[in-house]
Amino acid sequence: MKNFHEYGKFLSRNIRPIYPPLIKGNGVRVIDISGKVYLDFSSQTLNLNLGHRHQRIINAVKKQLERIYYTSSRFLDEPTLLLAKKLIEISPSKLTKVNLKMTGGSEANECAIKMLRKYHNKKIIVTTYYSFFGETFETMKCSGKYFDKSFIGNKCNYVYIYPPYCFRCPYNEDLSTCSLSCVESFRRVLYFRSDIAGIIIEPINVNSGVIIPPKEYLVEIRKICDENGIGLVFDEVQTAFGWIGKIFASDYFGVTPDILTLGKGLSGGFPLGAVLFKEKYDVLEYGEHEFTYGAHPISCAASLEVINILTESGFLNNVEKKGKYLKDRLLELKEEFDVIADVRAIGLLVGVEIADRDGSPNHAQARKIYETCLKEGLILRLSHDFNGNTLIIKPPLIVSKNEIDEAIYILRKVLMANRV
Ligand code: PLP
Repeated sequence: MKNFHEYGKFLSRNIRPIYPPLIKGNGVRVIDISGKVYLDFSSQTLNLNLGHRHQRIINAVKKQLERIYYTSSRFLDEPTLLLAKKLIEISPSKLTKVNLKMTGGSEANECAIKMLRKYHNKKIIVTTYYSFFGETFETMKCSGKYFDKSFIGNKCNYVYIYPPYCFRCPYNEDLSTCSLSCVESFRRVLYFRSDIAGIIIEPINVNSGVIIPPKEYLVEIRKICDENGIGLVFDEVQTAFGWIGKIFASDYFGVTPDILTLGKGLSGGFPLGAVLFKEKYDVLEYGEHEFTYGAHPISCAASLEVINILTESGFLNNVEKKGKYLKDRLLELKEEFDVIADVRAIGLLVGVEIADRDGSPNHAQARKIYETCLKEGLILRLSHDFNGNTLIIKPPLIVSKNEIDEAIYILRKVLMANRV
């Protein structure tokens, strides 16, 4: 393929490629049609937790392809049933049921919204500004990110509270004396309204710049939900399956939601979504939430192997060690370059916030760093909301120390060249 733009023009504008298409991937590296090699510290769509072309996933998929590659939900198949049991075994305690008949995170969140509304017989759901739950109609309505998009219609079934963005606290609180005003605002909503079915939050908001809440935040949110008899949903589409050194952020924070939604790393590169939940939320009937290509046996076979790898002894400890190494290198860069205002990291999930010397967020500079890194062969991601000034670093968990050094070398070179 000589000129990819010639072909790209047939694609709708929202999926037209900006960069040359990729022709091969291997571990943490990818190659584009011009032969250029990149270090992929974005895991593509922040989803490839075991990188590109992991041999064990290829083997698992091939084995299933040779048996049967599609089944309807009236029959299902071995990988789907084995995966259901496995997910419940590794899930936070009290989550005893799973729906797997989905192809990704948006459909998983749709499922959670339906269950909340049906069980509580109430429509209103609370979430945070700048949250992101997907791109189906209902998940866009729910997402704080799309608050100003007119084509999605009214969002009157959602109430938004400020997120726990401690670095630029919307309540001007100081971390050392923080009284969790963001939690208090949730309590107040419930004080004034009795039509709330539940709250849906991302334990860590990755898309808006790896916003990590203080540990007590989710504990308090859980307490408020219990006191008011409303449901708590965690969207773990970004946070589950290894990056933070645990399978689930719920385990990291020691808080079990009532409903937990999954996608991305669940199946390491194959379409799959899942919802884990407490027994009482098992309220949807046949025909209310199963998609034709959901629980695809190939994706379920891949997912089983992903979980086998992640739960092998020492694997996640190693993620934590590599994460600490990456964080320390980034903190060194922060010392060296004023433009780095904050480094937020848990395991191999990191946000690097870019700002001016006076602390003002600098989106243009962040974009320039991101674009120049790409030219230099390092793929990162850029946050959208909260000023879009955070570089998101989320490499595959199989990344080596040498590859981290290589990425830091490129980032440092780019920061030197962009020094203001
Ligand atoms: N939830 C979160 C936190 C996400 O980041 C995403 C996708 O980026 C989704 C839900 C939607 O997942 P999908 O694109 O698989 O529908």
